[in-house]
Amino acid sequence: MTAIEYGVLALVILALLVVVLLRVASTRRSSGSTTLKTGTEETGAPIGPDAEPAATSVLELERPEPATGRLGRLRGRLAKSNTTLGKGLLALLSRGGLDEAAWDEVEETLLLADLGVASTQDLMARLRAGVRANDVNTVDAARLLLRTELIDALDPSMDRSLHVDRHRDVDRPSVVLVVGVNGTGKTTTTGKLARLLVADGRTVVLGAADTFRAAASDQLQTWGDRVGAHVVRGPDGGDPASVAFDAVATGIERGVDAVVIDTAGRLHTKTGLMDELGKVKRVAEKHGPVDEVLLVLDATTGQNGLVQARVFAEVVDITGVVLTKLDGTAKGGIVVSVQRELGVPVKLVGLGEGADDLAPFEPEVFVDALLAD
Ligand code: GDP
Repeated sequence: MTAIEYGVLALVILALLVVVLLRVASTRRSSGSTTLKTGTEETGAPIGPDAEPAATSVLELERPEPATGRLGRLRGRLAKSNTTLGKGLLALLSRGGLDEAAWDEVEETLLLADLGVASTQDLMARLRAGVRANDVNTVDAARLLLRTELIDALDPSMDRSLHVDRHRDVDRPSVVLVVGVNGTGKTTTTGKLARLLVADGRTVVLGAADTFRAAASDQLQTWGDRVGAHVVRGPDGGDPASVAFDAVATGIERGVDAVVIDTAGRLHTKTGLMDELGKVKRVAEKHGPVDEVLLVLDATTGQNGLVQARVFAEVVDITGVVLTKLDGTAKGGIVVSVQRELGVPVKLVGLGEGADDLAPFEPEVFVDALLAD
């Protein structure tokens, strides 16, 4: 071969090498975008040319805090509640030798703490009996008595577990409806609940059925994106029931553990609410029974919250209460009164605006936080 022929051969080999290298690079890029696409389906982030940022968002999915131990932070957050229910009662009872005027003060403290009339009367009778039987006149003795009676008033025998397990027998996710008046923290709670479930290793689809408040769907989308929960949305002002239906259908299709649906909380008239919520539940139940209906109540609204609770309880069968903003109230007795009023347990409490500030409710931990030094 001549030198020229050698040169041509080298150029051909070089060209071939360039072609092979280019092919390898393009295959890598396209397999990368497959991963991204899966991620973007979950996160709702852009796909295609914008795949790079989506990859980051997949990698950056948050790991919510485990559910256990969350209520422990209640002690700090309940600093304000301590003043009325815990510290107030403790100071009164530890005086010892209580006369009628002092008992009137105890009664007033219970009422001011939002315990409601019936629960206050009950607790008064028990405290009087306890003081008579145990000669209470020290802080420790008062704390012991209060601890027993307050825990009892919270009825620790109530089943506070969330029914959020997949129904393996019928191959269907569990379905949770989150109901309540707007402003109580309903959408936030739906988002926090998704995190709680993800933290426990469950997969979740969210339904943004509060189609009347424009920001609610976007808000829920953000919550979902952060933990990789798919969010089913409808058009603004669209039919909430159809979103609920689609959310459950999507949950079934994707084989997730739980579908959590945020609903509209317009308390315009009882009939209106009944029509709207009733329809959402009925339509969601075309796929099978709803497992949980959680009523979100704002703890800072006190007895007003109880009025709302009553209306909702007449409209749908509530299976549990979520008491939000417990960090922002000086009271706390509402936990007792709402359970008594509705006959359903407080299952979760909101302790702040942080993403993981939602904790399973435990009467003992709550009372210990109330009575802490
Ligand atoms: P919705 O209209 O019922 O859906 O209410 P949102 O979910 O939009 O919440 C209303 C406001 O309450 C928001 O600013 C939330 O951050 C706040 N919020 C919700 N839960 C809690 C809580 O447990 N503690 C505090 N401090 N704020 C909360």
